Amino acid sequence: MAPSIASTAQARSASWRGRPPWRDRALPLLLAAGVVGLVIAERSKPRRIQTQSEPGRSLRNLAMGAMSMAVVAALEAPVAQRLATRSETGRRGLVQHLPVPDWMADALAVLAMDYTIYVWHVLTHKVPVLWRFHLVHHIDLDLDASTALRFHAADMLISLPYRAAQIALIGTSRRAWRLWQGFFFASILFHHANLRLPAGFERRLAWVLTTPRMHGIHHTARRVDTDANWSSGLSFWDRLHGTFRWEASGTAIGVAAYRDPSETRLRPSLILPFRRRLRDAWTTADGGGPQAPAAHVAPPKTQNREQ
Ligand SMILES: [Zn+2]
Repeated sequence: MAPSIASTAQARSASWRGRPPWRDRALPLLLAAGVVGLVIAERSKPRRIQTQSEPGRSLRNLAMGAMSMAVVAALEAPVAQRLATRSETGRRGLVQHLPVPDWMADALAVLAMDYTIYVWHVLTHKVPVLWRFHLVHHIDLDLDASTALRFHAADMLISLPYRAAQIALIGTSRRAWRLWQGFFFASILFHHANLRLPAGFERRLAWVLTTPRMHGIHHTARRVDTDANWSSGLSFWDRLHGTFRWEASGTAIGVAAYRDPSETRLRPSLILPFRRRLRDAWTTADGGGPQAPAAHVAPPKTQNREQ
């Protein structure tokens, strides 16, 4: 006889509680090893020459990352955990109603989480109040793995209702949630990295994943570039929506209206979203974005250019 939904849910819950402790530690350890590997790779194969002094810039980004992670740990994680438990024990949410095995439901949930993060990223650029916070991430004048941590802590708070709706509507289980979190965190570290990959390899990789070249284009100070490559994990959401871009129109990293390095420091960055008026991000006094050599299309031999 087929097991009832309730008994299946109980079994799922029990198997989660009974999983070996090494599985809890494996993901953070794997991510930590990945971060170390990425930082080493950034040093040996940089895509761009950095323009800002270090370690000040990286330390600022790390500080902002620590504040954001504190909000995630204190608020997002408990909410996500509760909703994910409800999804699987109560069979709530879209994927929980599909007649598919658990592993497939989890895979579909991860896919749906990734797609809805694409949508959220578009919203953070298009909805003025959300842009105020996402702007803090974009005004970094260099781009590397530390930029992946440069998010305003209040940004984590604002995205909480959206994250809760994602889990509840999709029916994301605790396993799918952990898988997506691991994938998402690894992906944002990777695609923000100042890393030059072999051209042919990166072109092929960009059919599946968001790559450093793709996301570097999203971070140039030209609106035509920034309004592209919104994907944060799998790249085909951009291809699906016609927002995929492989050549950049500019090379300067940042936002056209925020070129003063002092504005990227910790205190001004934390205050920025709460300023009464923000400058129009994509225009400058001369009416255009900052000019710089065609870094995204230049041959890879010269260090201050990128392909
Ligand atoms: Zn963005």
